[in-house]
Amino acid sequence: MIAARIRDAALSLPEVPAYLYDLPALDEHAASVRRAVGATELYYAVKANPDAELLRVLAGHVDGFEVSSGGEHAHVTALFPSKPVALGGPGKTDAELRLPHHRIHVESPNELRRLLATGLPADVLIRINPDLPVEGAALTMSGPFGMDEQGVAECLALFTDRVRLRGVHTHLASGLDSAQLIRLAETLLDNEYEEVNLGGGMAVSYAAPESRFDWAAYGARLEALRKGRRLRIEPGRALTAYCGYYVTKIVDVKRVRGETYAIVLGGTHHLRTPATKGHDQPFTILATGGGQGVTDEPITFVGQLCTPKDVFSRKIRTSARIGDTVVFEMAGAYAWNISHHDFLMHPKPAFHYLRV
Ligand SMILES: *Cc1c(COP(=O)(O)O)cnc(C)c1O
Repeated sequence: MIAARIRDAALSLPEVPAYLYDLPALDEHAASVRRAVGATELYYAVKANPDAELLRVLAGHVDGFEVSSGGEHAHVTALFPSKPVALGGPGKTDAELRLPHHRIHVESPNELRRLLATGLPADVLIRINPDLPVEGAALTMSGPFGMDEQGVAECLALFTDRVRLRGVHTHLASGLDSAQLIRLAETLLDNEYEEVNLGGGMAVSYAAPESRFDWAAYGARLEALRKGRRLRIEPGRALTAYCGYYVTKIVDVKRVRGETYAIVLGGTHHLRTPATKGHDQPFTILATGGGQGVTDEPITFVGQLCTPKDVFSRKIRTSARIGDTVVFEMAGAYAWNISHHDFLMHPKPAFHYLRV
């Protein structure tokens, strides 16, 4: 499943576990997304993966970065002082409300009051939490995010010449395909706002890595719905998920009460994605070990942590030998940066980058 150059790079790593990032592939993917969305502004949601090497590649294609904390703001503005930044996130502190921005996404009337109290100029998108059914999403962002109609009305009365209302921001769910996001956009753009940020949440399928979000269809529909307005999207996962690989190797193969396990170096403290999402992380085995093992049977892949939650994938029919290299795919977003690195104090992975 993986390209030959990924296989070669994985096999030539001096040590595993390691992360391997395919920067040329990221470059190509980001360029194709950029082309597909046309005049819609493209921001990258930094929380998906803030790795500076990835951000440098993305910076050549995106119009700006969406940051959700003072930490992300400092990181991004140090790397790209002139790139526009949209500052979002629930529970902003007074210090965060004072940060320079191209846009700030205000989450509540009281947050807007605290922003006004800074005395600084601001360009605001109010984050709305509309009463819309979002079917088939992996995660929905209802609950505390943004404001209902009452909160919006309260905000509209507060704007001044200095703290300006530019439009609305929405980010309703994650894991939506292009048809679902198009339907949402059609509803969300049925208003008078001159600027609308439609958020991220474009689907990434870990079960079918080859099936990709239809950027061409989404981009074309946004172009038709735009009608002279300023539109923006801020994908995270769908930009960077595919360029990352977590490479490790099998240290033990065992049968316990009828179930076969392959235990790999490292674990979900390096790649938490399958544990948080409860999915099977796609992988390719490079049969280099030649040690003890099993052939063509359902195998559960686990890491070195002393918890039953340290599972990468369950009952996948394959062969596995001690010493084999395992390349977990789709590890470029919400992977290393969301993981609990210090649990059990195993060594940290190295990071390698394939360059153009
Ligand atoms: C997380 C987040 C995104 C990115 O979501 P993806 O599912 O990674 O595309 C965009 N906007 C906001 C406000 C977010 O919280």
